[in-house]
Amino acid sequence: VPQGGNTGLVGAQIPDQTGSQLIVSLSRLNKIRNLSADGRTMGVEAGVTLQQINEAAEDADLLFPLSIASRGSCQLGGFLSTNAGGTAVLTYGNARDMVLGLEVVLADGTLWNGLNRLRKNNTGYDLKHLFIGGEGTLGIITAAELKLFDPPQGKSTAFAGMVDIDKVHQLFRAAKSQAGRGLVAFEFIPRIGIEFVLKHGAETRDPLSEPHNWYVLLEITSEQSDQSADEMMQSVLASALENGAIDDAVIAQSEDQSSQFWYVRDIMSEVQRPEGGSIKHDIAVPVAELPTYLPEAMALVRRLVPGCRPVPFGHYGDGNVHFNISQPIGMEKAAFLDHWDEVSHQVHDLTVSVGGTFSAEHGVGALKRASMLKYKDPVELQLMAKIKQTLDPQGILNPGKLLPDQ
Ligand SMILES: Cc1cc2nc3c(=O)[nH]c(=O)nc-3n(C[C@H](O)[C@H](O)[C@H](O)COP(=O)(O)OP(=O)(O)OC[C@H]3O[C@@H](n4cnc5c(N)ncnc54)[C@H](O)[C@@H]3O)c2cc1C
Repeated sequence: VPQGGNTGLVGAQIPDQTGSQLIVSLSRLNKIRNLSADGRTMGVEAGVTLQQINEAAEDADLLFPLSIASRGSCQLGGFLSTNAGGTAVLTYGNARDMVLGLEVVLADGTLWNGLNRLRKNNTGYDLKHLFIGGEGTLGIITAAELKLFDPPQGKSTAFAGMVDIDKVHQLFRAAKSQAGRGLVAFEFIPRIGIEFVLKHGAETRDPLSEPHNWYVLLEITSEQSDQSADEMMQSVLASALENGAIDDAVIAQSEDQSSQFWYVRDIMSEVQRPEGGSIKHDIAVPVAELPTYLPEAMALVRRLVPGCRPVPFGHYGDGNVHFNISQPIGMEKAAFLDHWDEVSHQVHDLTVSVGGTFSAEHGVGALKRASMLKYKDPVELQLMAKIKQTLDPQGILNPGKLLPDQ
């Protein structure tokens, strides 16, 4: 069972209870092997943390744009094996999009050196993509060649408040069409999420002077300067105010204020904990479906458990919603959590019916294997089983994860 920083959220890095499985820790493969500022590439071993990678790129005046809250602990092997997403997917894609080459130990001990640094290489199957997102079931990643980027010269962060999801969508379309690749982040939060932050977060304040039903945290970067990023942000928000997409907005006036805005987003998961039981989903639907999907999904769970409090938030621009539901006030936590299976089945059924997925960025691991069987195309499952059989005929790599028992 390959293990990196042990921050995965679906149990993929944890051995079963039989006592017959071994953890293979990659922590001591902890070197940055090379960094080419000219070629914008970095060769990194599996046990290097994301934060160390981010900092090494910064030291060379470059950017490795993967940004997730577990960056201090999660490691290259782990964030590649889960194809991590994060808050900059809109511009840079998922972890998969930031890799040029891989080095992998196969199940029979063979070392595959696929550490190429090429931007173009059409010489057959692109095998690295089997291991990225493979959750350690096909091979053990020992190193990778990563892409580096020119860091933006300017950044502008803002909070906007609006009345409903249609308006969130209206702002997203306008911001995307005006800022293009410059729109790095478009995160949404419901009012109840802000209330939880105000109640349970340390030194927090309401981002806007009046309460709003929905909020968007958006970030725009510029290749020129902070001033040009701010000008683009002002233009996006001014037209959104004018055409009624938003009711109010505030642009961060300093790095400190920008960090405060991001702090509100970053603590969204932890402030739900003191509110009791929470039934969680990491779903994605096509972005165009969100304005109809979200109200429907919220009405659905309210019908299933009257009084429950949906707290959907997350990466609106990627269609990735952390569709969490807090328990009704006054209900026993255990009684609420007894509804988990029923609620999840219905939420996932609805999600899949609009072309969505039951796991957007956290993976399948041990937790969601049954959903693989229920929702994955049977042909796709057969292909996956054949690939597993070919690369790991004895089934010794991360047994009992990702692939369902058939
Ligand atoms: C606070 C927090 C915030 C998070 N935010 C995000 C987010 O915004 N976006 C997102 O996508 N995810 C997020 N995650 C989950 C995310 O998947 C992990 O944090 C990270 O990607 C996993 O890295 P890790 O090194 O901890 O891997 P682990 O948890 O140790 O392992 C994860 C998987 O990778 C496999 N693995 C580990 N190392 C190797 C290797 N060398 N070779 C082959 N397989 C290997 C394991 O077997 C397992 O299947 C978050 C998690 C936390 C705790």
